[in-house]
Amino acid sequence: MTKRSCLMLCAALAAAIPAVVVGQGEKYPVTVIPPGKGPYTFAPDYQTPWDKIQIMVTARMSPNLFVLHGSEGLDPAHPEASGGRVMVLFGPDGVLMVDSQNRQVAEKTLAAIRSFTAAPIKVLVNTHIHSDHTGANAFFARQGALIFAQADLRAEMLRPPLRANGQPAPAPDMAGVPVSTYAFNPGTAGQPAVTFTMNGETVDLIPMMPSHTAGDTIVRFRTANAIYIEDFYRNFGYPFADQANGGSIKGMLDAVDLFEKVANADTTLVPGHGTFVKKKDLLAYRAMLVDVLARVTALRKQGKSLKDVLAANLTAPYDKTTLGDTQQSKDRFITEVYDEAEGLPPVVDGKRTMPAHP
Ligand SMILES: [Zn+2]
Repeated sequence: MTKRSCLMLCAALAAAIPAVVVGQGEKYPVTVIPPGKGPYTFAPDYQTPWDKIQIMVTARMSPNLFVLHGSEGLDPAHPEASGGRVMVLFGPDGVLMVDSQNRQVAEKTLAAIRSFTAAPIKVLVNTHIHSDHTGANAFFARQGALIFAQADLRAEMLRPPLRANGQPAPAPDMAGVPVSTYAFNPGTAGQPAVTFTMNGETVDLIPMMPSHTAGDTIVRFRTANAIYIEDFYRNFGYPFADQANGGSIKGMLDAVDLFEKVANADTTLVPGHGTFVKKKDLLAYRAMLVDVLARVTALRKQGKSLKDVLAANLTAPYDKTTLGDTQQSKDRFITEVYDEAEGLPPVVDGKRTMPAHP
């Protein structure tokens, strides 16, 4: 071997080493594949090619707590990485999953889990009802998972709100409906409703106030010092309070404030989408919610219509620092704030009857 070829080979070997050494001296969390940044564009008639979407280990939060997420650039609902994140705690006590991803990629999600553990699937926790977080519930129940969630999520699943076109949603597959439920209690906000001790971890299911939906749960892993914070916070696209499913912009402010109680400065917060953050990173998001809520409320008090308020382009100061700032994302956010500016209808069975906008 010449000196030159040794240099090249040795350099190649050195570059390959981090990929094969797992778990020794790693500083967690380890990001394997970060979400994309965009911008992304899709043709109006674009259909998600589910067969092309891969489900991959995109981060490791500890030696036995992994994060799964889908491919970038294919799913217009979440172009930065398809679907919602799944967290998987594994070991001799079996597998605990947080969220189940889209139904269309259920086999691929299971295959990704089987790439690192053969342990039985025991527990599935749903952070909220959206199909990118619960779509494969029935599939994983058939693998053996007992499903946990807030009672409001179960109610939303059993009696879903009407679709945007006014049509009723199809009846759920009962195998995928959570069977162990708990409720948010304002008097004990931040305290776990359920705690699991598994695989060297302590896992807290903490029910949230109506924020992204009425049935939100955050999931804290005490040993890894990580919390799956679901979708009340996002850093790809503008905030989404699913008010028909009981969500609320003001509830999102309360959700941010709860992190004073449930996280420390070093806790890694894992949103359903976008990049990982720390609790201090929630503050700019909170300030934006407060600012936009105040501006929209003032315009509404002056008698402005939704159309006028949308035209006022109130998100302009935030577009530069908001990835995925599409017109659709802005309009949805401003419409939510407009609907909330004069109060929201009450939550009944996890749902609110929201006004229709032509
Ligand atoms: Zn969601």
